[in-house]
Amino acid sequence: MLNFDKTKKVLVTGGSGYLASWIIKMLLDEGVNVNTTVRDSLNIEKTAHLKAFDKNRQLRIFKADLLDSGSYKEAMEGCDFVVHTASPFFISGFKDPEKELIKPAKQGTQNVLNTAKQMPDIKRVVLTSSVVAIYGDTIDIQKTSNNIFTENEWNETSSVNHNPYSFSKTVAEKEAWKIAKSQNQWDLVVINPGWILGPSLSKRKDSFSIKTMIEFGNGTYRTGVPKIFVGVVDVRDVAKAHINACFLPEAKGRHIIVSKTMSFMDIADIIRKHFKNKYPLPSIIVPKPIFWLIAPFLGFTRKYVTKNVGQEIYYDNSYSIDNLKLNYRHVEETIIEHFQQILDDGLLT
Ligand code: NAP
Repeated sequence: MLNFDKTKKVLVTGGSGYLASWIIKMLLDEGVNVNTTVRDSLNIEKTAHLKAFDKNRQLRIFKADLLDSGSYKEAMEGCDFVVHTASPFFISGFKDPEKELIKPAKQGTQNVLNTAKQMPDIKRVVLTSSVVAIYGDTIDIQKTSNNIFTENEWNETSSVNHNPYSFSKTVAEKEAWKIAKSQNQWDLVVINPGWILGPSLSKRKDSFSIKTMIEFGNGTYRTGVPKIFVGVVDVRDVAKAHINACFLPEAKGRHIIVSKTMSFMDIADIIRKHFKNKYPLPSIIVPKPIFWLIAPFLGFTRKYVTKNVGQEIYYDNSYSIDNLKLNYRHVEETIIEHFQQILDDGLLT
């Protein structure tokens, strides 16, 4: 870890979330004072783990909602840095993507960053964006100059109707850059993680990364998985990226945070090898034409299948290593420790 200036105070939005919980824990472990926000401060299930690792009473929990204008003001008072992670994260199961995803992501970013403009102590805002603000479909890699995604690219293919979660992250990040340019009190540093995996600090099952790891173990994919590639990264590396983005004065710009490109079957193979074939993991790859036919029944559009299945992707993570001083963990360790946490916490039952 860096040598922290422990007099600085950090606001982390969305403290009950999978990623935010790790950011908060790592800051508290370093002796930094932290404020955090949750939607429901009375929901003990969502905050008990945060209180458990606040040994020195350096954490304060506030109530705020992305859609409630001005609700982040009290939590931001006296803070030097804002880490804005809160945003709705689900890629299926919504009825109205504009209302459930795009509006809270964009309006929430406006709400948090415009409040930061009114708070004279804030020196830096770190925004959790995503690699999906860099590309929409994996086929978009064919438009890059060297067949690799870099921080120079923007997602130009997502919309309310096609990959709306990716669209929500893209509009939110664009909004953040616009607000950052409208003032000169604080600077903006953006973190663009790939698919985050690794042990969770709470027993929540509804966070997308946790839910998917549970699905590997509970047989959801036992009949097979399509050949889909994702950039995997450990939750602890992503948390560290946010913290370094606060405390390193030279941190600047967007950062792809990905350790390794993997297919769903690569992930299943690591679990199978380590946990000795005890779980109903996928063992066959569903051919693209078959997946294309059945996709709508599984919550995917055929357009998504056409533009994503079978296309390998590559990410240039060198800027995060140079600018944020990151050392990535091996993804095998990430996947094994995540699956073990799910077993230990009894989440498969
Ligand atoms: P998560 O566990 O679902 O956390 C999302 C957080 O956002 C929760 O704390 C949630 O609060 C909060 N939130 C959602 N809607 C809100 C609203 N209207 N008002 C206030 N808070 C709201 O997901 P996560 O994986 O930790 O994601 C954290 C961030 O990382 C998100 O910005 C996500 O887009 C980004 N990201 C995640 C991944 C990944 O693979 N996990 C990859 C790239 C980027 P509640 O607890 O009240 O629900």
